[in-house]
Amino acid sequence: MNEQIANKLPDYGTRSGEITIFAGPCSVESEEQFDEVAECIAGLGLTWVRGGAFKPRTNPHSFQGLGEEALQIMKASGEKWGLKTLTEVMDSAHCELVHSYVDGLQVGARNFQNFSLLKNIGIVTAESHKMVLYKRGFAGTIAEWLAATDYLTAEGNDNVVLCERGIRTFETATRFTLDISAVPVIHKQSLYPVCVDVSHPAGVRDLVPSLAKAAVAVGCDSIMIEVHPNPPKALSDGPQQLTPAQFTELVAELREIAAVF
Ligand code: PEP
Ligand code: MN
Repeated sequence: MNEQIANKLPDYGTRSGEITIFAGPCSVESEEQFDEVAECIAGLGLTWVRGGAFKPRTNPHSFQGLGEEALQIMKASGEKWGLKTLTEVMDSAHCELVHSYVDGLQVGARNFQNFSLLKNIGIVTAESHKMVLYKRGFAGTIAEWLAATDYLTAEGNDNVVLCERGIRTFETATRFTLDISAVPVIHKQSLYPVCVDVSHPAGVRDLVPSLAKAAVAVGCDSIMIEVHPNPPKALSDGPQQLTPAQFTELVAELREIAAVF
């Protein structure tokens, strides 16, 4: 962490003890699809909706995202339901465009060490101080993660959330191994809030509630959960996405054990 941030945030004050939820579909697929999820999120009194516009797909033949059209859908729906919007920036060439549409910019796991992208996101958010949600790479250590965060904050935007999303280990029973210990380790070593993405490590929806409860128990500051109106028809990550009804039930359970907003 650079000195500028350390001076500005003298204690754990950014971490309010309340848990933010970043929910929404893996990919923005249509106005109707996104709006249905946004309506559910707003109805629950939550504050953020997420969705992928530019998708980092392993296979170039898989759905790549709707691009700017998705950004337009997100902006309109966010305004309609009074929600802040979060999406991934995959490429430095898209930084300004994405920044002009959404409230939060996500760095995906596959761009964990794309230092020029990190620098450019730092530049584009220098004035706005829009939130940057920085995901851990599949094989990134916590030390590498914290070091590279300084690329994002170099121009003065310290509004960074670090997001644990599972790492690669020998275990294949889950899509990724959720490193739950990353939360207290980062809390000990930095002042950044820590998000836990519980959908991508799970890979299947029935594991999502258990991982979300574990994230709350370990002291996370926010949770990311993928939600789709019709997961079997999803264009990406269908098996792990919750339906709005399942998500509603999970939020109620989480609210029993923590302050969720
Ligand atoms: C996502 O959040 O849509 C995503 C692609 O996640 P990750 O970068 O963690 O795989
Ligand atoms: Mn996804």
